[in-house]
Amino acid sequence: MSTFGPRHLLGIEPLTRAEIETVLELSGRFLEINERPIKKVPTLRGKTVINLFLEPSTRTRTSFEIAAKRLSADAINISGSTSSTTKGETLLDTARNLDAMSPDVVVVRHAQAGAAEMLAGRLRAAVVNAGDGAHEHPTQGLLDILTIRRRLGRVEGLTVGLVGDIAHSRVARSNIHGLLKLGARVIVCGPPTLVPAPIERLGVEVAHRLDDILPRCDVVNVLRIQFERQRNGLFPSIHEYALLFGMDSARLSRAKPDVLLLAPGPINRGVEVTPEVADGPHSAILQQVSNGLAMRMAVLQLLCGRTGAEE
Ligand code: ASP
Repeated sequence: MSTFGPRHLLGIEPLTRAEIETVLELSGRFLEINERPIKKVPTLRGKTVINLFLEPSTRTRTSFEIAAKRLSADAINISGSTSSTTKGETLLDTARNLDAMSPDVVVVRHAQAGAAEMLAGRLRAAVVNAGDGAHEHPTQGLLDILTIRRRLGRVEGLTVGLVGDIAHSRVARSNIHGLLKLGARVIVCGPPTLVPAPIERLGVEVAHRLDDILPRCDVVNVLRIQFERQRNGLFPSIHEYALLFGMDSARLSRAKPDVLLLAPGPINRGVEVTPEVADGPHSAILQQVSNGLAMRMAVLQLLCGRTGAEE
């Protein structure tokens, strides 16, 4: 019996701890399938997944496409530049027309917070939020948590630092909701202009000096500066940002010896993380991508209403 209730995946905030655990557990089974020489199972044969991406994406879109294909579903990709939204069609009209072709899942990325939720109330297909503005990016949060659990064996009781542009990061919000539900402590850290004060109400600690909090962190998740969602002048310069908040070898040497470094990608080498740290032994950046594929297979299966991975 599956403990996954929701018909859509709109965020981590609405999920229960048990629902998060269900996704994580099922992801483990797909990780194994992704190691096989033939990485395809018939679980979602006859199902259709539409990826409707109206903002740039590399990892998330590719990962949902491969996830659908490995489950034997048909996957169709639509991006902003090739869709009729460039001709003036609204998101809702585009999505309703796609829904009229009876897909089972629509995965949507959009610059507007609430876009996925708006569609979820109006489409017959299950809707997955693949990032809505600065609001949530639930599959990124889930894959980050899966990666922490696989590398460190647990999430409960750990201290996780989210570093950088908290104000504009949907990854930050999904991490916060998921990590707190699973019993981690969360510290958000960045320049005051990039950390909104009310975020404390979510139950996180707020800090502005990375060097002060780093020795307490078991995990550091470095977030990209979301220039596409920012007005100018929120911090003096990229160089100063890198000096104060960038993860480099010197800073890492002052962290716990087994600290885990995460980054959702894309990374800007030399800004939020230096190349030697991004490619070093503490980094789980590529493991996050592999875990993300398995986790998205789990999400597609759960939303399509099946309970077990067919062999
Ligand atoms: N890929 C993530 C997102 O779409 C993180 C980022 O872009 O910095 O939110």
